[in-house]
Amino acid sequence: MAIIPKSCDVLVIGGGPAGSSAATHLAQAGIDTVLLERSVFPRNQVGESLIPHFWKFTDLTGVSEKIRQEGFLAKAGGITVWNGKIHQIRFSDFGYTRPGLHVERDIFDAILLHHAESCGAKVFNGVAVKKASFSDCQWPEIFYTDKRGGGNQEGAIRCRYLIDASGHSSFLANQFKVRQTISPQMNFLSLWGYFENALFVGVDRRSHTAEALATIKPVTFVMSFEEGWLWHIVLRGKASVGLIVPTGRTRGMDKQQREAFFRQTCTRLPHLRNLLEPACFIEGSLQFRPDYSYYSHTICGENYYCIGDAAAFVDPVFSHGVQNALYNAATATLAIKESLKNEKQRLRYSQLCESRMQQFYGFSRALSLGDFGGNGVNPQLVKNLMKSLPPLELELILVASEMTNRSENFRQMAREAGVLGKFEERFLERIEGLAF
Ligand SMILES: Cc1cc2nc3c(=O)[nH]c(=O)nc-3n(C[C@H](O)[C@H](O)[C@H](O)COP(=O)(O)OP(=O)(O)OC[C@H]3O[C@@H](n4cnc5c(N)ncnc54)[C@H](O)[C@@H]3O)c2cc1C
Repeated sequence: MAIIPKSCDVLVIGGGPAGSSAATHLAQAGIDTVLLERSVFPRNQVGESLIPHFWKFTDLTGVSEKIRQEGFLAKAGGITVWNGKIHQIRFSDFGYTRPGLHVERDIFDAILLHHAESCGAKVFNGVAVKKASFSDCQWPEIFYTDKRGGGNQEGAIRCRYLIDASGHSSFLANQFKVRQTISPQMNFLSLWGYFENALFVGVDRRSHTAEALATIKPVTFVMSFEEGWLWHIVLRGKASVGLIVPTGRTRGMDKQQREAFFRQTCTRLPHLRNLLEPACFIEGSLQFRPDYSYYSHTICGENYYCIGDAAAFVDPVFSHGVQNALYNAATATLAIKESLKNEKQRLRYSQLCESRMQQFYGFSRALSLGDFGGNGVNPQLVKNLMKSLPPLELELILVASEMTNRSENFRQMAREAGVLGKFEERFLERIEGLAF
C-alpha cells in the first residue's frame, strides 16, 4: 500500500471533476500534489448531461481524447416542456463542432481521476479528510482517516495550499460555517433513479427504442410539472430519470415511501409516462439529495480554495455543474501556481480568484434560479462576464435562457449589459407538440 506523504505543496480533498482536474493542472506544472478521496473509484455520481463547453477545459488538461475514446453517447441538444411551452435547441445550429455528452459519471469521473494520476498527482482512494487546521505561522495541517485495506488509520499531512473539492459535503465551508441555502423558497431536493428499456427522446422530437441510438442522436429532456421539474437522460443501457421537488414534499417519508412517490410521479406525468411505458425500474437505484441550492460568502483564503460543489451548488436545470467545477479548477490552480512563484502576493491572487469564481457562480445562479437567485450575486460582475464570454457560448446560454421561466433576472442583466439584442429568439425552436 502506497504511503501517504507527510507534506506536499498542494493537498486536494476529493477526486470528482473539480478535484481531479485541479490535481492534473498542478501536477502538469511540476507541483507536488496529493489528492485524498474517501471513496474507491468508480463511485456513483449524478449529473450526466454535459454541455459542449466542457471540452475546452478537458483540452487544457489533455484528457479529451480519453473521454472521446470511451464512446459516451453524444447528445444533439435539449428539448424542454416548461409550463406547457415546448422548445428545442440543437448545438449544431450554433456552429458547435463537438457534441454535448450523456455520461455515466462513475466512468467519466474515473477517467479524469486516472488522468490526474498519470500526470503525476499522488492519488489516494479510500482516505477521508476529517479536519483542517490553520495557523498563522505554519502550513495548514490536514487530518484524515485512512480506510484502505479495511483499516482505520489516523494520519496528518501538511501542505502549503489546500484545495477543497469535496463536493456537496462542502468540507471547509461547513468547518468555517459559511455555507448557506440560497433562499428558503429554493429549498429543493432531488430524487433520481434508473430504468432499463426506456424509450429516449431523439433530436427528431420522437421517442425511440435504444436500438435507434445508432442512427438518431438523443437530446436531454426536461419538463416542468406542478411541483418542480424532471429530467430524462438516456445512457448506454439505461435511462436516468430525476425529479426536483420542494424539500417539504417528501418530509417524513422513509426510503420505501420515497421510492413509491418517485415511481408514481414518473408514471403519472405526460411524456415521461410514455417514455417509461416499456421500461423497468432498476431496483435499488433510487437516490436522493436534499437541501439545495447553496453558496458560501467566502470560498478562497490565503492558503485555501473551495472549488466545484464544495463552494456552491446551483439547481442543475441548465447542466452547469461539471463545467463550473472544471472552470474553478483551472482558475484556482492558476492562482496557486502564481502564489507559489510569488508568496508575497498570495492574498491578492486568492482575492482575484474569489471574485472570478463568485462571478461564475453568480452567472449560473441568475440563469437557473429566477428571482430567487439574487442573494449574494453581484449583478455587475455577471454583466462583465456576459460581455467577456466567447460569442458562441454567450449565444447558446442566452437562447437557452428562453427555455424555462427561470431566467428573467438573467435576461434583464443581459439587456442591461447590451448583449441580448441580436440573440433574442434565435435558434430556439418553438414546437407545437411532441410525437410521444
Ligand atoms: C440532482 C442533480 C443533478 C445534476 N445534474 C447535472 C447535469 O446534468 N450536468 C452537470 O454538469 N451537473 C449536474 N449536477 C451537478 C454535478 O453533479 C456537480 O456539479 C459535480 O459533480 C461537481 O463536481 P465536484 O468535483 O465539485 O464534486 P463531486 O463530483 O461531488 O466530487 C466530490 C468528491 O469528494 C469526495 N469527498 C467528499 N468529502 C470528502 C472528504 N472529507 N475526504 C475525501 N474525499 C471527500 C467525494 O467522495 C467525491 O468523490 C447535478 C447535481 C445534482 C444534485
